[in-house]
Amino acid sequence: MVSFYPGPSQIYPQVADYLLDAYNSGILSANHRSQKGMDLVQETVLLFRQKLNLPSDYSIYFTSSATECWEIISQSFKPDRFLHIYNGAFGKKWFEYSQKLNPNHCQGIQFELNELLPKIESFKNDIICITQNETSNGTQIGMDSIATIKNQGGLIAIDATSSMAGIELNWALGDIWLASVQKCFGLPAGLGILVCSAKAIQFCEQANQQNHYNSLLNIHKNMALFQTAYTPNVLGIYLLSRVLQQIESISETSNKIKKQAKDWYNFFKNNNKYKLLAQNASTRSDTVIVVSSKPEAIEILKQHTLKLGLTLGNGYGEFKTTTFRIANFPAINIQDINRLREILNN
Ligand SMILES: *Cc1c(COP(=O)(O)O)cnc(C)c1O
Repeated sequence: MVSFYPGPSQIYPQVADYLLDAYNSGILSANHRSQKGMDLVQETVLLFRQKLNLPSDYSIYFTSSATECWEIISQSFKPDRFLHIYNGAFGKKWFEYSQKLNPNHCQGIQFELNELLPKIESFKNDIICITQNETSNGTQIGMDSIATIKNQGGLIAIDATSSMAGIELNWALGDIWLASVQKCFGLPAGLGILVCSAKAIQFCEQANQQNHYNSLLNIHKNMALFQTAYTPNVLGIYLLSRVLQQIESISETSNKIKKQAKDWYNFFKNNNKYKLLAQNASTRSDTVIVVSSKPEAIEILKQHTLKLGLTLGNGYGEFKTTTFRIANFPAINIQDINRLREILNN
């Protein structure tokens, strides 16, 4: 079975061996404050820096999910405004969670899926929240667009859940980056990743929020010792370390993924049966391809591919029945992509 679902998604086949290695290594029974536990976290952080090209003044934290990262941000900073700019279901969900926790300090601005990131006015005590890759509608905000945000000294928080480890991110453009591993990392779900700039940590120290077990300040203090505030998903961290060892550097992966995305978009050009949801080529995602068609045609296609051992991603939210999604994630190999194209051609 091969999954083209954009999360949880196809995991690397090597993970089967890593699971057994994890068991045999004894790490799964080790205390997370033991030397063995701390060494694993330290090594994983190091590999993350190397493979994903993360600047040394950014720190990495392990959480349980991307959703948890949204809440951590809401609970750990005290800006005048969380300014959410979104064009799809995930960005909207983030805005809604944020609003519940900080109802008087939250503003949402919606834009259309064929539109580039709108110009925004922000102030020095704002946190701008954007979703770099909107998994629900297959659009992305390019690094050049993010670079146009004039944040006037505040912070920029970026949800890169379905693009981190798939395409190269310009880390310097954001202060807070978040993701989870069941998308482009090709791993099973249950581990979230939060990346913060030195400036973000400064803001967090000033806000001095400590009421939650997962307040960023608390997470940050623990990470100084390569520990976590609570007993973490040790298996998830172990598997992440092994996958990070295995994968190519992000610039190579990114080139491959972007070329594959281009090929997918060319494939659907001038297709009578299938149309791309995003009309504007410059808003289309590199990692999640969203295709629209008649609901009946989609249903038949999904049943047919399933019989042949391929799972397509369902449409999401308002596009549930009118689109299907194809993950263009690194763990999916070219043979399987070609098989899917053959099926789509018939
Ligand atoms: C999948 C996804 C999430 C949620 O991830 P969890 O790990 O399930 O919390 C958040 N944002 C985006 C853009 C996603 O694709």
